[in-house]
Amino acid sequence: MFCRICGTKDTQFQISGKYGCEHCVTVFPVPKQPRRLWIPTSLLKEIEEIFTHSQSKIKFLSYRTRITRNLAHSLFPFYEPKETEVKQLLAENGYWENWEEESNSLTVSKEGVSPVYHLYLGSEDHVRLEILHILDLNYGQLQNTNKSLPTRVSKENRSLLRLFYRRKLWAYRKGIGFLSSCPTNLGKGRRDSLLLGIKEGVDPRFFSLFEKLSEFGIEIAPSTDHRRESLGNFRGLVVKISWKNAFAVQKRQFYKILGLRGSL
Ligand SMILES: [Zn+2]
Repeated sequence: MFCRICGTKDTQFQISGKYGCEHCVTVFPVPKQPRRLWIPTSLLKEIEEIFTHSQSKIKFLSYRTRITRNLAHSLFPFYEPKETEVKQLLAENGYWENWEEESNSLTVSKEGVSPVYHLYLGSEDHVRLEILHILDLNYGQLQNTNKSLPTRVSKENRSLLRLFYRRKLWAYRKGIGFLSSCPTNLGKGRRDSLLLGIKEGVDPRFFSLFEKLSEFGIEIAPSTDHRRESLGNFRGLVVKISWKNAFAVQKRQFYKILGLRGSL
């Protein structure tokens, strides 16, 4: 068994776990989307209680959204990184005008403006957009500053987001959604994550949340891939709460307990 477009064999797919092109999803197994359940009110209350109870022990460091896309009708980066084509597409749409020949990343936002919009090429998918909000707040502060958090997306960033959702440009299939190299990213091609800094003496129930939230597709795990920029001056255990392709209601529920607006 093999994909007649990109040539990936099933033995290769079993080892790499990656699709080679958009046709691969018709050849190799597409993972069943985990059932998305609503988070019950009792659990939401418990989370809120833990955060309130441990206010001084939990620091909200940063919030990041990653959206990945592959060019339509192209082989995926495993075979063809397509960096020139992606740069061209972005340039045609007003981004990447000043890109340097060798550079594979570009900060879209103006310096000092939050959130930071960043474009990356040359990884698992053809292009990745990252939106980073530096928070560096405890729970109480987060609740209070909620109203001053930027809730409106600037005109420029809005059009960049629109570009990422224009189905014709990207590998997309009806019934599945946006297609990515990694089978678990299929659909929205989006992962949201929140970095928390945990200090000693945190409410021990915090750690039991790891398991309770996993059945809703929300992962909590010690983070190793964070970058210095997200941490500010924090020293301690860094935990990442992340969820892939969550549906809107679920995300709103979760944002609410974190004191974040659903528009992020
Ligand atoms: Zn293929």
